[in-house]
Amino acid sequence: MRKVLTVVIAVMLVFALSGCESNIENVVVADEGAEATNRLSIVTSLYPQYDFARSIVGDKADVILILPPGVESHSFEPTPQDMVTLQNADLFLYTGKEMEPWAYKLTGSIDAKIVDLSVGITMMDLEEHEELVDPHIWTDPNLAIIMVENISTSLKEIDEKNADYYEANANTLKQALVDLDTEIKETLSKTTSKTILSGGHFAFGYFVKRYGLKHMSPYEGFSPDAEPTPKKIVALIETINETDAKAIFYEELINPKVSRVISEETDIEMLLLHGAHNVTKEEFEAGKSYITFMKENLERLKIGLGYDE
Ligand SMILES: [Zn+2]
Repeated sequence: MRKVLTVVIAVMLVFALSGCESNIENVVVADEGAEATNRLSIVTSLYPQYDFARSIVGDKADVILILPPGVESHSFEPTPQDMVTLQNADLFLYTGKEMEPWAYKLTGSIDAKIVDLSVGITMMDLEEHEELVDPHIWTDPNLAIIMVENISTSLKEIDEKNADYYEANANTLKQALVDLDTEIKETLSKTTSKTILSGGHFAFGYFVKRYGLKHMSPYEGFSPDAEPTPKKIVALIETINETDAKAIFYEELINPKVSRVISEETDIEMLLLHGAHNVTKEEFEAGKSYITFMKENLERLKIGLGYDE
């Protein structure tokens, strides 16, 4: 914007000095128009790829998160306005067809290059539901690295002249994810308990697999509309009463009513295990990164699972 203003002042000065009465507005509009059409527009479905994409593109492109802040991601459907945004995009990044069925259906209906970020990742079945695949690949930082590689590859394809820049930024991000993975692995190898007790639709299947943990949750499947089974709530309460469990974990952006019941029934604390599907308005404005969310989760896991330095 400042650049446009500079152009306006410069043009005004030239015309003031020469006394010419040409149409100044047209000059400015043309300048703005040229900038708008040249900038790449990257649209993302969920927060992890929004965060990864913005790290990789730096100042070379605009990255738009299609999910409004605070919206639960599994039940999201794009609005007509979102469809316009998608239609105007150069690149659209989504997690996979199980996570965003609406995104998968866009294939062939918009001009943007559409990239499924789960390509190259071996999907895992949901426990007890062999017909259902767990879509939460990003909760394992090691798989997040593959997502970053997929983003970087697609950016280099649509914007070859900045390929080296994207490659360098992607490498920096990948190294940060490797460091995160190491930190989580070392920390969780020292916890007293190895079981995450969750009152939510457990999104950390890939995470627990990566770090040799287990989990208990009263939900079957990952739909936020799914109902917890009473039998599993009772089993969780019994486990807590029979062990030295310190916390029940709840998930972001969904009413933690089940965790609250369990917490009240057993007198242990409730702690957030942030799945980073999407973020609140405050978190969005603070620009919190995927890595920050995972480090905050790690601090709470140390409390919930018991940790001696
Ligand atoms: Zn989920």
